[in-house]
Amino acid sequence: MDKINYQLEDTQEAIQLPEKLEFGKIFTDHLFEMDYNETDGWHNPTIKNYEKLVLDPATMVFHYGQAVFDGLKAYKTADGRIALFRPEKHIARMNNSSKIMCIPTVDETFILEALKELIRIDKDWIPEGKGKSLYIRPFIYGSDPFLGVKPSRTYKLIIILSPVGAYYAEGFKPVKILVQDEHVRAVRKGLGEAKTPANYAASLLAGHKASLKGFSQVLWLDAVELKYIDEVGAMNIFIAKKDEIVTPKLTGAILPGITRLTVIELLKSWGMKVTERLISIDEVIEEYDKGNIECVFGTGTAAVISSVGSLTFKDKVLNFNNGEANPLELKLFDEITSVQYGLKPDTHNWLTYI
Ligand SMILES: *Cc1c(COP(=O)(O)O)cnc(C)c1O
Repeated sequence: MDKINYQLEDTQEAIQLPEKLEFGKIFTDHLFEMDYNETDGWHNPTIKNYEKLVLDPATMVFHYGQAVFDGLKAYKTADGRIALFRPEKHIARMNNSSKIMCIPTVDETFILEALKELIRIDKDWIPEGKGKSLYIRPFIYGSDPFLGVKPSRTYKLIIILSPVGAYYAEGFKPVKILVQDEHVRAVRKGLGEAKTPANYAASLLAGHKASLKGFSQVLWLDAVELKYIDEVGAMNIFIAKKDEIVTPKLTGAILPGITRLTVIELLKSWGMKVTERLISIDEVIEEYDKGNIECVFGTGTAAVISSVGSLTFKDKVLNFNNGEANPLELKLFDEITSVQYGLKPDTHNWLTYI
């Protein structure tokens, strides 16, 4: 791989972060990009000022959706350092998404170095304080200006950075979830395991309809039998029963969340029983009716842990936690975020310092 080119023009303006940081609205001064073609492979890695893209209207990604992305965070730790949370897992997952989308993979070590370098340059954009972080969005798209269904021959990878505030600025708020049986998101052997825009496109109508009914998210059922629970919007799901914590196994229709993995590892390290398996919505209802469910929560980079206040399936409403967060959810949230902000030792080696 070539050395990184630097095209840094003086931005002059002092960085001023707004008091209230909304997710995904403001971006830092610089970005990383590199190009792919068949002759040179991935080449021309460059860090330059954040700028608009100029694209041919025939660019393949607009027409056939060949793209992947990932999402991870950098934190200012209590001792003033900058830490990334499990970045190697995110980059490896992006390569896995690329394989599914017929996109050439990248050199994981090089991308991690490039990412660290970009963050070093924009380090003053990382907001300080618990809950605040720098959201990192790498993505790749098929860039051939060509109409015709086949994999693009050229690609662009870009990494942009966005300072973000605490997901739950006013503390944990349990979410109301609709169990979706009219629409499906992803099917086994399809794209569900890839972080690709198509999965989000497939979720929009159902999400919109659910929000009109007052739900904040939908829980997807498996697309073949509409029987087993898959995942929620952009979160994986866990059901904590009295004697066992269960989460849907990775069937290929589910995104393999890094927070999901972290939660499984933590619960095991605490000596709790965690099982990855198929879980039918009927089983959830049955266990609920028997009073066996302690809590239900979602996991994802944005919120870390999201307490589920209720699940609605047809005309059945399952209420959890009396609308409050459960101690297990709070413990998981506290443990993970304390490591992220350097408030507790990183005994699992989750952090990469910059
Ligand atoms: C990104 C994502 C998740 C959560 O993954 P994390 O690595 O924990 O952030 C879950 N489901 C979907 C569909 C996602 O895109």
